[in-house]
Amino acid sequence: MTASLTKCKSVLITGSSRGIGLQLLKQLAKSTDRPATIIATARNPTGSKELQELSNTCPGVYTVTLDTDSQQSISSALKEVQSIVGSKGLNCLINNAAINISTDIDTVTPEAMMKTFQTNSVAPLFVTKAFLPLLQTAAGQSTGMGMHRAAVINISSILGSITYTRGEGANFKSYAYRISKAALNMVTRCLAADLGSHGILCMALHPGWVKTDMGGPLAELTVEDSVSGLLTVLSNLTDNDHGEFKDYRGNNIPW
Ligand code: NDP
Repeated sequence: MTASLTKCKSVLITGSSRGIGLQLLKQLAKSTDRPATIIATARNPTGSKELQELSNTCPGVYTVTLDTDSQQSISSALKEVQSIVGSKGLNCLINNAAINISTDIDTVTPEAMMKTFQTNSVAPLFVTKAFLPLLQTAAGQSTGMGMHRAAVINISSILGSITYTRGEGANFKSYAYRISKAALNMVTRCLAADLGSHGILCMALHPGWVKTDMGGPLAELTVEDSVSGLLTVLSNLTDNDHGEFKDYRGNNIPW
């Protein structure tokens, strides 16, 4: 990680109980160049032993309950986060929480579609909308664009790329997940169009195919390597990255 994350005073991660969210928390918390305040949210924080241990041992790490599917949970998390960050606001929101229900043409159901759309596309929009005043507060205290000011990072997937449905990408049969991530990509572009003038950088990030509960044991990347790449990309964000779709190595992905 480069030193530029030190200028990011606060970061909030959704879905920090396990997988990429937990690893983001671990690497951020243990870095010497870390944001002073790291807010790890999860729908059931006490259910994750590692999350509990980190928040008990690392100064500046706070756990907040947040079920991103519940507007009530979003509202109470917002109050808690407001009292943690105070007048400095929130520099970076990472919308990481997601689900993947396996659905091919034979098994896809309206219920699987709606549930996945709610968690993977609708929830990141409404979490962002709720936390916008805190991001605007942080953006008002700096200039330029990047993690030092204010950013919304949507953890997407190359499987949400419509271009990638041609060629080898056609082999991944997952209607609900792919469609929900394509919708999240549009959420990212709409947010980028609205929030750029407020100095809030918005982008979509693909973590690679990662060995987590979601990615499975055959995935190409360890969660450590994926997250180390993601954090390097985050450290180096500039206005050129606003509204972009990138992978964990910093390469642009076609929409
Ligand atoms: P995991 O399944 O390992 O973890 C998912 C996380 O999301 C868990 O912490 C889970 O919490 C949380 N979550 C799910 N629903 C909610 C909710 N309603 N409210 C709060 N938290 C919720 O997934 P990964 O870590 O692999 O994935 C992280 C992100 O990376 C996702 O956006 C995913 O789509 C993306 N991604 C992953 C890839 C991979 O290969 N792993 C590839 C491309 C993208 P709980 O423990 O409570 O269930």
